[in-house]
Amino acid sequence: MDRTLWTRSISQHYCPPWKCPVCTKGMIALVPKSLDYEETAQSRRSRTHPDFDPEWVTFSFITWGKCSNHSCHQKFAIAGKGGVSPEYTSEGGDWDYVEYFMPKYCHPMPNIIEVPNSCSDEVKRLLAESFSLFWSNQSACAGRIRVSLECLMNYLGVPRKRKSKNGKYYELTLHARIDAYAQKDQKIGSQLMALKWLGNTGSHDGEVSRTDILDAFEILEHTLEELINKRSARVSVLAKKLARKHGKK
Ligand SMILES: [Zn+2]
Repeated sequence: MDRTLWTRSISQHYCPPWKCPVCTKGMIALVPKSLDYEETAQSRRSRTHPDFDPEWVTFSFITWGKCSNHSCHQKFAIAGKGGVSPEYTSEGGDWDYVEYFMPKYCHPMPNIIEVPNSCSDEVKRLLAESFSLFWSNQSACAGRIRVSLECLMNYLGVPRKRKSKNGKYYELTLHARIDAYAQKDQKIGSQLMALKWLGNTGSHDGEVSRTDILDAFEILEHTLEELINKRSARVSVLAKKLARKHGKK
């Protein structure tokens, strides 16, 4: 996962090279001259304020991205907000204000992390929803990550219910299920628990930053790799072993 891809802005000629989620081979590039922007009404009004500062300027923008793979050429609708920031111009040796644009939406949305193919469809769907929310609503994004953990617990076969002393079954909380998993694998268990805490903050209207979400995605990418790919690799080794021992000679 390259974190800088998700915090960088778009310019009139540049879009961060996100990987195309459709063909997973090409990169997204800005369609030349497709970027269009307008200053917001509030920003225009602020220009008459005696303390006006260029950093108050706000734009709305829309643009197109396109996959670089010639056999794919998927187009991406991108929209968001922008502003101006002072930049040093080497020609005049002076400072100038340059427009920048921060994406809020992209459709289709690229994958922020690699999700193993053998992950359950439910986990894949929830993670895709979390990617779509990354720029626009970090708390909701953390909430989707939390729900994906519930599904991951199902996928890993961690029981949903436990028998109480009076013989009745009761539903386990996500916390209790992760605790149960941590008994088998403490390292992964503590990583999943950290993601659960962030999800709790998100669902209780707490402050969740983009950095928090990128941390969560980085942990999740590593955890999924450990849980799913390594488990698949181990299962295929076991299958080969059994086949060697018991298969037809
Ligand atoms: Zn593509």
